[in-house]
Amino acid sequence: MNTEIHDTFDVTIIGAGVVGLAIAEELSGRYGNVLLLEKNPNYGMETSSRHSGVIHAGIYYPAGFLKAGFCREGNRLLYKLCEGRGIPHKKTGKLIVAADDEEIEELSKIREKAEMNGVDDLSYVSQKQLKAMEPEVSAREALFSPSTGIIDAHALMTTFYLRAQSEGVVIVFRSEVTGIEPSNGPYDVQVNGGEYSFRTRVLINCAGLYADRIASLAGIDIDEKGYRLKYCKGDYFAASPSPKLAHLVYPVPQEEQVGLGVHATLDLAGRVRFGPDTAYVTALEYAVDEKKGDAFWESVRRYLPGVQREQIQPDTSGIRPKLQGPGDPYRDFVITEESGAGCPGLINLIGIESPGMTSCIPIARYVARLVGSYLN
Ligand SMILES: Cc1cc2nc3c(=O)[nH]c(=O)nc-3n(C[C@H](O)[C@H](O)[C@H](O)COP(=O)(O)OP(=O)(O)OC[C@H]3O[C@@H](n4cnc5c(N)ncnc54)[C@H](O)[C@@H]3O)c2cc1C
Repeated sequence: MNTEIHDTFDVTIIGAGVVGLAIAEELSGRYGNVLLLEKNPNYGMETSSRHSGVIHAGIYYPAGFLKAGFCREGNRLLYKLCEGRGIPHKKTGKLIVAADDEEIEELSKIREKAEMNGVDDLSYVSQKQLKAMEPEVSAREALFSPSTGIIDAHALMTTFYLRAQSEGVVIVFRSEVTGIEPSNGPYDVQVNGGEYSFRTRVLINCAGLYADRIASLAGIDIDEKGYRLKYCKGDYFAASPSPKLAHLVYPVPQEEQVGLGVHATLDLAGRVRFGPDTAYVTALEYAVDEKKGDAFWESVRRYLPGVQREQIQPDTSGIRPKLQGPGDPYRDFVITEESGAGCPGLINLIGIESPGMTSCIPIARYVARLVGSYLN
């Protein structure tokens, strides 16, 4: 890199999705010199605005995983934040519905797993109780999670953005990190192919779908470390007219948790969307294939038999930055300071798929501790 370096920052965050923004707010009161770079013209234009907007309870994750602890804690912290800051949200509750004996057996495994994760508020719902709660839903039995809810994800990001900025974090858009060179510990970072360069003591990689590329730019062997991302697309279909639902309704999840099954989510206006499904892809392409409508309808009408094929149309999609490839065992978030890999002061966040939004506050606090122990 031959651009002259004029500026030095204590901490640089790459990526203004919900995670980068939460970290920016968390660090803003602690360090005077924090920079957040985003390649798009605004914050939250990628995965953080292409999801279900669900505040998860932490039911399904293997015990001891960061995902399990962060999700459970994030759920509580997110509701508290929403109440304190007036962020639109609703604790709708969620029903996991079982259609047959096999799925009923799965419900008890799900409950056991949830309890191992400290989620002890799940209760069984009989067919009769279910009819009273959700007249349009058909199932033999269900599990009810009262602490699952929905949030205005954009308002959440806006609050992090405004707080971080008002506490002095420099947030710059249209700024893509294109080069990273270590120089005795600090990093020299190149933006937009050399338009601008600066030095930073700590570099936090929250680049979402590009996090493996950033790690590689910084000198990490992503294959050796198992950091190479696999893209797993999730399409949504919207229902119009919407079935009348008061709760989120999920089928029993798929094996190895590639996704949670084509479920019915609600937004704060009461609009129902079905999805996301799961399909590994190689390109970051968001168009939703209309032809999938039949398969969605087949999945949905198992628990919402009144929904007609003509009611569902393609909606949005999102792409999961997964560490787990097809058929691989389930993987946890990677959140680590990379001194051990020869990159001191580089903090990688890789594979921040669901429940990344729910977990954003505990992730930010965890990263702040990593920064603190590196700089002190
Ligand atoms: C279909 C789907 C449904 C989901 N549903 C839920 C849910 O209901 N609840 C939940 O808790 N989680 C959910 N998630 C997960 C959640 O959306 C993510 O975990 C979260 O949004 C990740 O945020 P992020 O900030 O890490 O990444 P992103 O939002 O992807 O942000 C990364 C940012 O980095 C920027 N960037 C990348 N490279 C560079 C570069 N070189 N220079 C500068 N900037 C760069 C990008 O432009 C982007 O803005 C879902 C995800 C998907 C895909």
